[in-house]
Amino acid sequence: MSKLFQDFQPLAAIATTPTAAQRLQPLGQTVGATLWVPESLTNTQLRSKIVVEPDAGTRGHGDAEKINNWENTQVYTGSLKNHIASLWPNHRAFVFCLATGAVVRLIAPLLQDKSCDPAVVVVDQAGRFVISLSSGHQGGADQLAQLIAQQLGATAIITGAVADLGLPGIDVLGVPFGWCRGAGDWTKVSAAVACGEKVQVIQEAGSCLWQSQLPASHPFVFGGDTEMGGVGTKHLGDNLSVKPKLYSPNTLPSDSLTTGPKARIWISPKLQSGETPNIPEVQWHPRVLWVGIGCERGTSKQLIEQAIQQTCQDYQLAELAIAGIATIDLKADEVGLLEFCEQRHFPLRTFPAQMLNSVKVPTPSTIVAAEVGTPSVAEATAICASLSPSTPVYQGHGDAGTRRRGERTTHQNQMGGLLVPKQIFKSATQPGAVTVAIAQAEVEYTGRTGQLFLIGTGPGQLEQMTLAAKTAVVQADAVIGYSLYLDLISSLRRPGQIIEALPITQERQRANRAIELAQWGLTVAVISSGDCGIYGMAGLVLEELRVRDWDGKIPGVQLFPGITALQAAASRVGVPLMHDFCAISLSDLLTPWEVIAQRLEAAAQADFVTALYNPRSRSRTQQIAIAQATFLKYRHPQTPVAIVRCAYREDEQITLTTLDKMLDIPIDMLTTVLIGNQSTAIYGDWMITPRGYLGFAE
Ligand code: SAH
Repeated sequence: MSKLFQDFQPLAAIATTPTAAQRLQPLGQTVGATLWVPESLTNTQLRSKIVVEPDAGTRGHGDAEKINNWENTQVYTGSLKNHIASLWPNHRAFVFCLATGAVVRLIAPLLQDKSCDPAVVVVDQAGRFVISLSSGHQGGADQLAQLIAQQLGATAIITGAVADLGLPGIDVLGVPFGWCRGAGDWTKVSAAVACGEKVQVIQEAGSCLWQSQLPASHPFVFGGDTEMGGVGTKHLGDNLSVKPKLYSPNTLPSDSLTTGPKARIWISPKLQSGETPNIPEVQWHPRVLWVGIGCERGTSKQLIEQAIQQTCQDYQLAELAIAGIATIDLKADEVGLLEFCEQRHFPLRTFPAQMLNSVKVPTPSTIVAAEVGTPSVAEATAICASLSPSTPVYQGHGDAGTRRRGERTTHQNQMGGLLVPKQIFKSATQPGAVTVAIAQAEVEYTGRTGQLFLIGTGPGQLEQMTLAAKTAVVQADAVIGYSLYLDLISSLRRPGQIIEALPITQERQRANRAIELAQWGLTVAVISSGDCGIYGMAGLVLEELRVRDWDGKIPGVQLFPGITALQAAASRVGVPLMHDFCAISLSDLLTPWEVIAQRLEAAAQADFVTALYNPRSRSRTQQIAIAQATFLKYRHPQTPVAIVRCAYREDEQITLTTLDKMLDIPIDMLTTVLIGNQSTAIYGDWMITPRGYLGFAE
């Protein structure tokens, strides 16, 4: 099963005709879906393909029978309606190959709310269209439809209005950054965006990356606070986040009222509560709040919970904006605290007294200092956590002194973004006592494990790219690459995706940016032409990870191979690579020329068919001549040579020539040169290197 579909598991596919079953069956395997077919199908044309196993019901769904040689396929008995109803509560997604009307009737009684309904996607029998039917945004049906469309080579039908406008869904805007959806009238605000009404955005925290991707015609009016960085501000290569303001009062920028927005989006750790707003609004809460906790031994989970709840209420902060909990390392085994973190899925960061000692806090205590060796636990740990990177170095127990290379050290004598000074809580009914302080981090905690998809797009045209690679691009939160290659795959882009194009020379910046975003929690696609692991970005990314002491797991790395230039070039001229071959790059930017010259000599001498990458640039013109001379030492002047420029691109040029004349043909950095071996021959327009079947190979 492809990992790309993990977010949609468990996933059920439903087919009621043999054609539909055949359509969904291969999909079921790559996507990791269970394909459900009616009992009647096992008596029809499918009988030859499906064998009903005697041990019925082994997969645990009612009295369904397991079908053995169609892996992932099961038979349902009784009505489809009842069967769907039984699958509905515990499935994240459904793919139907059925008339849309029938699907609508089937799911209508089951639909509850877009915040909890599974994604529903419909595929037509011919496999031409994939319709995102319901839960397009929050359930992910839009994305699933696009992913499946890539698998089938079909067209995804997305009817959500904002997607059409090239805008991200308002209710999924913050998902890549781990923001939590707060209160609000999501339907009305989304409708206002879809209608092109002015929508005010007041962003007080969290990444502005989503802003830099908006189309020019977007309907947003940014809060009037220049410190936040408006949509005009490009954030390419910028920090992950805007500089957050400290806790600010619930007031609107004055000019926004006169321009008359019809809806409002708050992006803030604050809770906008109280009076009913004059226009519909919604609240996104970036997880920027670090709650520092000090407590007596044996403090109950309930008291900790109440204390945090109360503090958030008193200071109008959203609990949904809590990134995690911080405390002194001595409390790393405090049961109530651990239980609380586990229940709420909060990371727990712990810091040693010696580090906390140097943090300037508003409310130091000599009693605390005498007890634990630092005058502040709650305030100092909240500040430390808010100042250290958004991705926790460790969760739960851990060596607080451990730091990864390149990480910031805690700013000494600085109060960071302390929003709430120490609050003390005791309860008549609960054991213990707890102190709470809250600080705001500059960069939100995403709570996600980042992924790096290292993708080869093939030589040019989209049809030369693998389905897996296309699917990975659609899936990614961010796509990074050289602009030419990003343009070649622009039709795969999703609204809301972060696209970062960097100039051709900035490979290291590209790799580092991708790693930075992935370490933060995003799924990042790094684009190379051809194959990513052949003179491509994958090598650089893995080398950079290695020097950062990467643990091999976080961020996760997956490679998606592509057709490399030598294959593409070869396929345009025949079978030049039919016998042993090698690739040599003539670029001496990263490899000393002596090494390259030595390899040319060895390849020529060993009679390898040789593909020359990066053969000649404007300033580097001699290397190709030296290569020719080297090969002429060992091979006949008439040895066939193919010069292929821009294979599978619009301006493709293909020339078959010979070793002695090859320099008469224009050769540049978009060209691959294939030099045949001693047995390579030209036959008509074809270049053939014998494999030896007919006894010709040397
Ligand atoms: N990762 C790429 C290679 C990048 S090095 C791959 O696997 O194909 C860049 C060199 O690749 C170019 O200088 C050229 O020699 C070759 N190249 C890339 N795309 C090409 C194409 N479409 N046609 C011919 N050569 C190409």
